[in-house]
Amino acid sequence: MRKPKEIHRFYKSVPWQVAREIKIREANGKCERCGALGEEVHHKIRLTILNVTNPEISLNQENLELLCKKCHNVEHKRFSKSQQFDEDGNLISR
Ligand SMILES: [Zn+2]
Ligand SMILES: [Zn+2]
Repeated sequence: MRKPKEIHRFYKSVPWQVAREIKIREANGKCERCGALGEEVHHKIRLTILNVTNPEISLNQENLELLCKKCHNVEHKRFSKSQQFDEDGNLISR
């Protein structure tokens, strides 16, 4: 299963880079769950090809959460037992 190109394109877009930077700054660069170094910005409502073009979901600060790699992996394992992707669309190895 590959990440749809619409979502890949979104993660490369300038509006996302800006929203991501704002989120990281607001969270003081720390994971919002455990306080470790925040490295990945997670979408609480997960992105799909249907909602990725909706800024109310894809760029809404309320829908973003800064997580460390560990908490991010845990969060995604909850949804999928098979394959997970990081925010750049790369497979997260277990
Ligand atoms: Zn964490
Ligand atoms: Zn995520």
